[in-house]
Amino acid sequence: MRLIALLLGALLLVGAQAWYLGWRPPAPWNPWAPLDVRQPPNLLTAWKLSRLRDDPALCRQALETSALRYRAQADSPASADCPLRNVWRVESGEARLSSSFIVSCPLAVAYALFEIHGLQPAAQRVFGQPVTQVDHLGSFACRNVYHRAQGRLSQHATANALDISGFRLKDGQRIVLARDWQAGGAKAQFLREVRDAACASFSGVLGPDYNAAHANHFHVDMGRWQVCR
Ligand SMILES: [Zn+2]
Repeated sequence: MRLIALLLGALLLVGAQAWYLGWRPPAPWNPWAPLDVRQPPNLLTAWKLSRLRDDPALCRQALETSALRYRAQADSPASADCPLRNVWRVESGEARLSSSFIVSCPLAVAYALFEIHGLQPAAQRVFGQPVTQVDHLGSFACRNVYHRAQGRLSQHATANALDISGFRLKDGQRIVLARDWQAGGAKAQFLREVRDAACASFSGVLGPDYNAAHANHFHVDMGRWQVCR
């Protein structure tokens, strides 16, 4: 134990010295380098994503490394029931969207990461072709969790969540959560791979395994709770 502590201490000292002398680790491993969506997620990604939450300029920088088509949305008046700030309208990723959606900047960045490093590789592995459209049920909704009259606000109330309901492949095949999650076969396997991959980008992922309310979609969000079910 004491030896490990000594070694760690020595390593820290050397690291601090190197840092002082101007050495920097490559960007993906430098905790202070802005997140680059093109780099595959690693151990630092969750931390880098969490830094985007309170830093719109840093988030914008990360968003600019993505292949998303997006445009700025004006902030809503502070008097709105669910005021929106620093939100973007995402019009497409590599794949088309069933419709554009409004999202917080961190969620847009996480979506871009998910699409390139999670969704498309899963489609290539299972079907040997890309996803060309992502179908969704919406992002922004001014409401509480589970539409209850009481309780905490949903992540949807700040456009910090998206409900993904299915995918279309290049050859025209459709994959629908409500139908294919239970069906077995390649489509069910694909959906499980997509769910697991989503957990590497989003902080919250809830799907059909979680409860009946999620039988027809993956709820993905960038809230402070880490959950993957
Ligand atoms: Zn949701």
